[in-house]
Amino acid sequence: MTMYDNNILKDIENAEEICIAGHINPDGDAVGSVLALALYLKRLGKTPRVLLESIPARFAFFGGTQLWYNGAYDGLVPDVFFAVDCGDKARLGNAGEVFDRAGLTYCIDHHRTNTGFADVNIINANASSASEIVFELMKKNGFDPEKDSEIAADIYSGIVFDTGGFRHNCTGRRTHEIAGMLVDGGVDTSVIHSRVLFEHTYPQAKLFGIALGNMKHLDGVTYTTLTTAEIEGCGCTSEDLDGIVDYLLNLDISECAVLVTQRSETAAKASVRSKKIPIADIVVSLGGGGHALAAGVTCDGSAAEVAEKIVALIVKEIKHG
Ligand code: 5GP
Ligand code: MN
Repeated sequence: MTMYDNNILKDIENAEEICIAGHINPDGDAVGSVLALALYLKRLGKTPRVLLESIPARFAFFGGTQLWYNGAYDGLVPDVFFAVDCGDKARLGNAGEVFDRAGLTYCIDHHRTNTGFADVNIINANASSASEIVFELMKKNGFDPEKDSEIAADIYSGIVFDTGGFRHNCTGRRTHEIAGMLVDGGVDTSVIHSRVLFEHTYPQAKLFGIALGNMKHLDGVTYTTLTTAEIEGCGCTSEDLDGIVDYLLNLDISECAVLVTQRSETAAKASVRSKKIPIADIVVSLGGGGHALAAGVTCDGSAAEVAEKIVALIVKEIKHG
């Protein structure tokens, strides 16, 4: 028995209503893993509904976006509900109410901080991404990547996104083996890398400039803030922030990096990244979650206030451990 042995096929056999949800503010791994699982269940003759807050424009080329459900949630009572790439129930956002009404719930995830909130929890904090876990589960149930390039591309996109292009620390031998199988399935690796990691819009480049202009550094922590006016002034939204915090982390002086963006009049979201020092505990202590070296949290306060608070905690950790 491995953690990937499962009863998914049996559990969905008689299910009429199946919902698959990812985390709020969905990233490439959430969209890739959810759509791959949805397409797989569709191929098995099911009609799954994908519950995602949005499918950001840059992921619109992913396969299976037609399975996205954009209607009201109040009538949905699924027989089976899959929460994918979600570390805790709150991260489901509005889909949480649908989760509560489901007959059977699954959580498929790779966050170290996962609370195990479903009936069946398939959690592997050593996996590179939720997409990698979804691949393993489908493979156990007869999925052949060589026969389905659309699903293969979604999985590959999710892995590329969450590993930053096979660079982050949970990228293992198995991640590369899976990538090899997906390449055999006809995935266009070059196009996916470009679109998922490198292509940006002109407004995003403008915002990048402002973020770099606002950049500060304190004792190994490089950080920056963006107000709503700065984000909207560039014609951007909170979906246009990819790459900023990673750029700050890659600076030679950075041990950690923080991007704090205002999300409402009273709250700001922090994205925290680290080269080596684990930062998940600090972020969890503030009510957030994530991975050892990449985590996030939304806190009360202005972007500047939230940045000051988090940076002080990280500096303390760097200095005193
Ligand atoms: P990001 O900073 O890119 O939004 O997220 C980094 C990692 O932390 C991702 O794995 C994401 O799922 C997780 N994360 C971000 N914000 C939150 C949050 O508010 N709560 C929890 N539990 N996890 C978060
Ligand atoms: Mn993920």
